[in-house]
Amino acid sequence: MANEVCFRTLSLEDPTSLSTYESIGGYSTWKSIIKGELTAINIVEELKKSCLRGRGGAGFPTGLKWSFLNKDIPGQKYVVCNSDEGEPGTCKDRDIMRYNPHQVIEGLAIAGFAMGADTGYNYLRGEYIEPFSVMEHALGEAYSAGLLGKGVMGSSITFNLYNHLGAGSYICGEETALLNSLEGGRGLPRFKPPFPANFGLYGKPTTVNNTESFASVPVILEKGAKWFLELGTDNSGGTKIFSVSGHVMKPGNFEVGLGIPFADLLSMAGGLATDRTLKAVIPGGSSMKILAGEIMMQVNMDYDSLRNAGSSLGSGAVIIMDDTTCMVSVLLRLAEFYHDESCGQCSPCREGTGWLVKILNRIIKGQGKKGDLDTLVNIANNIEGRTICAFGEAVAWPIQSFIDNFHDEFAFFVKEGHSMIIN
Ligand code: SF4
Repeated sequence: MANEVCFRTLSLEDPTSLSTYESIGGYSTWKSIIKGELTAINIVEELKKSCLRGRGGAGFPTGLKWSFLNKDIPGQKYVVCNSDEGEPGTCKDRDIMRYNPHQVIEGLAIAGFAMGADTGYNYLRGEYIEPFSVMEHALGEAYSAGLLGKGVMGSSITFNLYNHLGAGSYICGEETALLNSLEGGRGLPRFKPPFPANFGLYGKPTTVNNTESFASVPVILEKGAKWFLELGTDNSGGTKIFSVSGHVMKPGNFEVGLGIPFADLLSMAGGLATDRTLKAVIPGGSSMKILAGEIMMQVNMDYDSLRNAGSSLGSGAVIIMDDTTCMVSVLLRLAEFYHDESCGQCSPCREGTGWLVKILNRIIKGQGKKGDLDTLVNIANNIEGRTICAFGEAVAWPIQSFIDNFHDEFAFFVKEGHSMIIN
C-alpha cells in the first residue's frame, strides 16, 4: 500500500514535472471543478467521508475544518498551506514538495474553490531552499498551462497561489504565528478565539492545513473517499508518511496505510542494529509523549491506537532509541531546543523552559539534588495548559513522560552523578 497518495510520483521519471503529474491523472479534479462538474458541498462531503485527518499534528478532521469556512459569506478569504515543518524528527512535507509539488498546488486550488478563497499561500520553513525552488518551478508551470490565475481556463474561477519562505522559527509552525509571520510581523502565536476561520490572515477568514493534508485531497476526490478510507482504519483514513529516524538501519520517509503495526514499520526502516534492543520510541515528533519499546511493539500506527497507548500520532515523526540511549541526555537536548524556540510571550513557557534546562544541565554535570525530578515534573505541570499556544504542552509532555517511563534511570543519574548507560 506504500506510495499511493502523496508519494505517487516518486517512482516515475521526472516526478516533479507537470507532464508527469498529468500523466497519472493530476489536475483532473481541478479541471472537473473548472467545468462545473463538482460543487463545494460535494468536495467537503467527500472529505468528511474519507476520514482525512490533519497531518500536521492535531489530527483534526479536514472535511469538518473546511466546513467551518462558509464559501458564500462575501469578502476576501484565504487558504494557507503550513509547510513550516519544524517538529524535530519530521521531514515528510519537504519530500512531498521536492517530489510531488503539483499535487500540493492542486490541493490548495481545490481548497480555495471549496471555501471561496481566490488566494492561497504556501508558507515554507526558512531552511527549505530546495523545496521552495521546486515549488516555484511547479507554480510557474501551472500558471503557464493556464491552471491558475484569473478566470482559470475561461471560467469564472480565480485562484492565485504564492510560495513564501519563512525565517526558520519553530513557533511559526503554530498556525496563528504563521499568519503573523506571513503578514510581515513577528511570528508570535495569537490568542484563540478568534480562530483563523473567522479572523485569520489580514483579519480575513482563513483555513490553514498541513502540506500532506492538502496533497492528499486531489487523490481522494479522484479515486473516492471509500478507496482512501480503506487504505487506513475506520477513524483514520488513508495513508500517512512516517519519518523514521534514530537507531534504525534505513531511516527515511515511508508512506504506508494508517494502522500498520509499529513492528512492520520498524522492519521497513531496516530494524535495529544487530545485538541492540528497542528501548523507547517517540511516535509523533519530539513534542509527543515517549513510549517504552515493549509497548510500541504491540501498537498500531493510527490516531486512536497511539492515543490509547498514551501518546499521539502527531506529525508522524517516529524517533527510535535503542538500549544505548541515555534518556537524561536526550531530555536535556529536547529541553534546550524548546527553551531556544519559545517565543517568550507567556511567563510559564519563557521562564519554565529555562528552569528545565538549568536543572537537567545540573543533573548531567553530576550535581543533581534530591527532589530535582519532582521539581522538573512540577514545572512541566505548571506550564501545561497555562500558555497561549500548544507549545506549552510540547514542552511539558516530554518532561512528564520521560521521567514517568524511565524514573529509575533518572533517579540513578541524580544519585550517582552519572548515566547508568555505559557505551
Ligand atoms: Fe510563545 Fe511559549 Fe507562549 Fe506559545 S506557549 S505563545 S511559544 S511563550
